[in-house]
Amino acid sequence: MLLEIKDLHVSYGAIRALKGVSVQVGEGEIVALIGANGAGKTTTLRTASGLIRPQSGDITYKGKSLIKMPPHQIVSMGISQIPEGRKVFTRMTVLENLEMGAYIRKDKDNVKADIRNIFQRFPRLEERKHQLSGTLSGGEQQMLAMGRALMSQPNLLLMDEPSMGLAPMLVQEIFTIIKEINQTGTTILLVEQNAHMALSIANRAYVLETGEVVLAGPAQELANDPQVQKAYLGE
Ligand code: ATP
Repeated sequence: MLLEIKDLHVSYGAIRALKGVSVQVGEGEIVALIGANGAGKTTTLRTASGLIRPQSGDITYKGKSLIKMPPHQIVSMGISQIPEGRKVFTRMTVLENLEMGAYIRKDKDNVKADIRNIFQRFPRLEERKHQLSGTLSGGEQQMLAMGRALMSQPNLLLMDEPSMGLAPMLVQEIFTIIKEINQTGTTILLVEQNAHMALSIANRAYVLETGEVVLAGPAQELANDPQVQKAYLGE
């Protein structure tokens, strides 16, 4: 396994956000974490990025434990997070945001080539490259957040609610791009409230409820599971 989250316990003061979550992500997979508001999906991702320290449990990446590493070291190991709500640097231009994504890289010549690649994938970002990011639409900001994360050349992308707040047509476009990013060799752990879309592109998925994994399996199987359909697919 590329990423192994083992029996993770996380509390915010008296609130027990994760009560023994275990999730595995294999090289090349898209793995989805689905579940209602407050189930613990974001907490799981933020712990993997080193932004939250767990009370107990372990997270290993290529066999190495991440839980004592600072976030920047986790990024340099090949893990990049696209945060909930995009969090682009609104007072910087599109181009500057992409350059920030490459801040840990030493190969500055290749950075330029990668920015060209990002612009090929997201032509709308190129059209707006000198625009301040705060003036972009929600969908464009999501594309920029994805582009910025790709600039660190991650092997594993942690994505938090990429579809949040986007119009249905854009949601479709973003999910198509996620699939393409995966097909070029990037493993993806995807947190989504849009269970329908998440299950349509994922290989496997985990269902979280109040800090615990209650169901896990191949995405197709979960999409056909009556319990999942009733609770998460509105069927
Ligand atoms: P959402 O879709 O709303 O992000 P989620 O599944 O990602 O939901 P988390 O954000 O991980 O869930 O939250 C899990 C639990 O921890 C919830 O009960 C939430 O209220 C609580 N929680 C999250 N962040 C904090 C915080 N900074 N301080 C206190 N409680 C928190």
